Amino acid sequence: MKSRTSHAKKKGTNPHDPGHPVLTGLGEVVRYLNRLAHPQVFDPKKREAWAKAERVLAALVPDPQARQGTTIATQPPSPDPVWAVGAFNRLARQVPVPLVVQAVLDPPGDKMGRLVATEPRLRRINALQEAVWFLWRYVFDDQGWLRLRRCKKCSLWFEDQTRNRSQEFCNADCLNRYWNRAKRRNAGAAALKKKGKARLILERLKRQEARSKASKPAKKGKHAG
Ligand SMILES: [Zn+2]
Repeated sequence: MKSRTSHAKKKGTNPHDPGHPVLTGLGEVVRYLNRLAHPQVFDPKKREAWAKAERVLAALVPDPQARQGTTIATQPPSPDPVWAVGAFNRLARQVPVPLVVQAVLDPPGDKMGRLVATEPRLRRINALQEAVWFLWRYVFDDQGWLRLRRCKKCSLWFEDQTRNRSQEFCNADCLNRYWNRAKRRNAGAAALKKKGKARLILERLKRQEARSKASKPAKKGKHAG
C-alpha cells in the first residue's frame, strides 16, 4: 500500500507524523495479519501464532477473493461466528495469558496511587499468548470484528473506520483499480456482444446467399439432367 489510506484523515492522526494514523488495537491486529503475506520478514514464531489467529478470524470476516473460487481447502466456511468463537476458545485454553494489575504510587509508599491494568504483552508472554490476547481484547471484547474487513481487490485486512461500516477496499487505489477493471470487463463484454451480433447477421446473410446460390444451380441441374 503505497498511497495513504482514508484512515489518515480520521481523528486519530499521529501528530508526530501526520501521514500515518495512530494505530488502534484493531489496527495492530490488522498489521500483524497483513504481515502473513510477507512471511520472509515475519518472525517465524509470530508468523505461526498469527496464522492461527487468522484462521479464527477467517471464519468471522469473509475474504471476497476466496468467494470467487479460490477458497483454500483448510479455511472454515465463512462467515461462521460460532465456529470462530469455538476455535478461539480452544486456542486460548492452550496458552493462558497472565493478567497483571500494577499499583502506581507517587510518591512511592503513598497509599493513594493509581491502579493500572497492565497490558499482558508488556510482560514476558510468547507470540501465541500475545496473538490470543490481541484477539480477546480488540476483536472480541471491543467488538472489533464488526469493523474488521478484507479488501475486495487485494484481500489485505483493514479496519473499517466509516460510520456506517461500508468500506470495501483497503485504500483508494484498490477501489479505483477494482472499478476500472469492472468497467473494462463490462466494456469488453459489450464489445463481444456487439461482435457476436454482427457475426450472427453476417452468418445469416451468408446462409441466405448460399441458399439462393444452391437453389439456382439445383434448378439448372434438374433441367440439365
Ligand atoms: Zn486493497
